[in-house]
Amino acid sequence: SSTDLAGLLAAKIRDVPDYPKPGVVFKDIAPLLADAEAFAALVDHLAARAKALGASKIVGLEARGFILAAPAAYAAGAGFVPVRKEGKLPGDCYREAYDLEYGSAVIEVQTDAFLPGERVLVVDDVLATGGTVEAALSLIARAGAELAGVEVLMELGFLDGRARLAPLLGDAPLETV
Ligand code: AMP
Repeated sequence: SSTDLAGLLAAKIRDVPDYPKPGVVFKDIAPLLADAEAFAALVDHLAARAKALGASKIVGLEARGFILAAPAAYAAGAGFVPVRKEGKLPGDCYREAYDLEYGSAVIEVQTDAFLPGERVLVVDDVLATGGTVEAALSLIARAGAELAGVEVLMELGFLDGRARLAPLLGDAPLETV
């Protein structure tokens, strides 16, 4: 069941206090990735959601989103599209700036990444403030694709990223594995 999956995965995520700075509890997915059974179960789940939501592309958010989205795309028979930090993608890109706790960041996607109206699933490891996913959703809309859903491994509920994203999701679900 989905509860068993959540339990299997939760047991393999390591809390690292005060990383990368004091007061932050970092959710380290390395033990999950290193566990063949847990990694396969997660990838299979993401692929099944992509199929159920009719997504023909899966978008991974740099960098840990890539690790999850690329094998899920393969397993689902979908394409993979990277959303990257600025300056990493060649050619024409859409750019989106967003605020971080201190300062700001820019993410990009190539302008020809999607077919018009193509359904895409967005995948990342942790939803914190929601700023990164919010910027990615803006890129996807500008690139002419349709959002099928957002899948995250974990949600830091106290930061309320879900509330921030709600107005942008339309009919697309935001799901925690
Ligand atoms: P946000 O834009 O605030 O939702 O932050 C999401 C991005 O930062 C994701 O790509 C995560 O990989 C990373 N992130 C934020 N907080 C954490 C955390 N406590 N542990 C691990 N990764 C995090």
